[in-house]
Amino acid sequence: MEATNLPSQFIDALMHQYQHILGDQDREHISSDKIVEHIVSYYEDIISCMPGNVYWLDKNCIGIGCNKNVLDMFGFTSLDEFKGLNFENMGKVGDWTPEAIAAFKRDTMEVVKTGIPKLNIEEPPIPHHDGRMIYFLTSRVPLFDHTGNVIGVVGISFDITELKTTQAALKQAKEQAEAISLAKSEFVANMSHDVKTPLSGIIGLAELLTFQLKDKQNIEFANTLLNSGRQLLHFFDNCLEVFNLESGDMDIETEPFNLKMLLESIRELFQPAIKTKGLAFNIVYDNELPHDLIGHRAGIYRILLNLIGNAVKFTHAGSIVIHVDLEKPLADNKILIRFRVVDTGIGIPKNKQKIIFERFTRLTPSYKGIYDGSGIGLYIVQRFLNAIHGSIEVESEEGHGSTFTLHIPVELTQTQKQSEPSYMQTAIPAQSQNNAEKIMQATERAVKILLVEDNLTAQLMQSSLLTSMNCQVEVADCGEKALEVFEPGKYDLIFMDIGLPGMQGDAVAKILRKMEHGSPTRIPIIALTAHINENMNKHYLASGMDMIFHKPLFREQAKQLLDYYFYSTK
Ligand code: ADP
Repeated sequence: MEATNLPSQFIDALMHQYQHILGDQDREHISSDKIVEHIVSYYEDIISCMPGNVYWLDKNCIGIGCNKNVLDMFGFTSLDEFKGLNFENMGKVGDWTPEAIAAFKRDTMEVVKTGIPKLNIEEPPIPHHDGRMIYFLTSRVPLFDHTGNVIGVVGISFDITELKTTQAALKQAKEQAEAISLAKSEFVANMSHDVKTPLSGIIGLAELLTFQLKDKQNIEFANTLLNSGRQLLHFFDNCLEVFNLESGDMDIETEPFNLKMLLESIRELFQPAIKTKGLAFNIVYDNELPHDLIGHRAGIYRILLNLIGNAVKFTHAGSIVIHVDLEKPLADNKILIRFRVVDTGIGIPKNKQKIIFERFTRLTPSYKGIYDGSGIGLYIVQRFLNAIHGSIEVESEEGHGSTFTLHIPVELTQTQKQSEPSYMQTAIPAQSQNNAEKIMQATERAVKILLVEDNLTAQLMQSSLLTSMNCQVEVADCGEKALEVFEPGKYDLIFMDIGLPGMQGDAVAKILRKMEHGSPTRIPIIALTAHINENMNKHYLASGMDMIFHKPLFREQAKQLLDYYFYSTK
């Protein structure tokens, strides 16, 4: 047996543990040194074929070992050539820059000193033995002895040259694109100036001529010149707008604005054309919709301008009506507004209703000369709507007018937020599509409503809303008062606030149900609450309420409600 310093049990244990490395070697003929040699070479083989560059240094940054990739990088053929090198030596062999040597040394020493790993550091590039420049992403971790002292550092570096090359190419492409875009913008700005300056001169002079000329035919010529110039200018402006829309990011700011005033300003703008054509023009503004809002004023203005402009252009007789109403409440104190631009004009064939939103699409080609335009108004509308999260649809029949419906989100102002805590509601069962106001007019008498509400503003708001819908409203400012005035058959509907000063709304409802006991009709009691608590809904319904609405009550909801309760019964 070979001489060995280790106890035989220990060799037995090693032989057992590393059987997969040592194989079937004869226990009697293997020394402990041989065993260790076998084990070390086994692990060196594993490390040698590891991906990336793996190396380990002692605490003075002297090379101890590395994998095959590191050897290849230096052009070494054996590990011995790497062993014993410090960073300066490595730099000399590898032709590293002084900056690279300094950076490697600094980062390695930091790990030795702190005992904390330094991960994913992008290193200065170094050349490979085959001539390629390589960028590495390196992680360095400390090596500890059994007492916890740092005895060296293990480094693993991965080649990120390809990633860096792609990044650089992307950066270059981006810079090139930006330069081209800038050059394009500059070209358009120059061209715009160069075209508009003479064009403005032509228009200005043509206009002057129409006033100064005496001869009728010459005046006609000047007018034609003027109109042609204006058309050209309009077309040119539209093209510029499309260019700007497509090259910019269309970041339209939200701002406080008065929607009613915005609509009035558009009406004023079109007044002369409307008058000339003898059209009726109406704006029907939902009472429930506040005038002061926060939203994309500029976008909304531009969209309406284009749609109303088209309505005027394509309508020869009849009317243009703009309906504006609150379509539905949204989360975060936002509401969805519905605009409907209804005209009695030439209409749009069904199969063309989609393509009219495409760029430069005109159903009457320009060479026919009937309607002027450039076919980009609706494209601009669509672009603006995308930017402000709105949508549009069109309903039209050739010869029977068109309706463009817009859905645009806006925000309520701060004061409205305080007085109008929530716009959520329970759903009204869909029973009838009819307009409740018309039904009210058709009934023999107004619907009598008892409004139980203590808040003066809410009283005023709800009673004016219901009165405007032909209802007769009586207000009780507390539950006790409601019980006092209530008689079975006296009212058709009760709106009951839940949070009343004395008796709560649900308690009042319970007593009212008892009071009408034996009466042939059951009065609908609608709970109005400022609190959103779905769990309470069951409780309110159990107390005798028929529906629960979150305050404030919108016109659309009131309409549906009245429609639901009174259409089939009266
Ligand atoms: P433009 O009005 O400048 O031609 P638009 O993009 O605004 O361009 O409209 C595209 C086409 O859609 C119009 O040329 C017209 O044929 C049709 N159109 C748009 N609005 C109406 C409307 N209210 N009534 C009838 N046709 C319309």
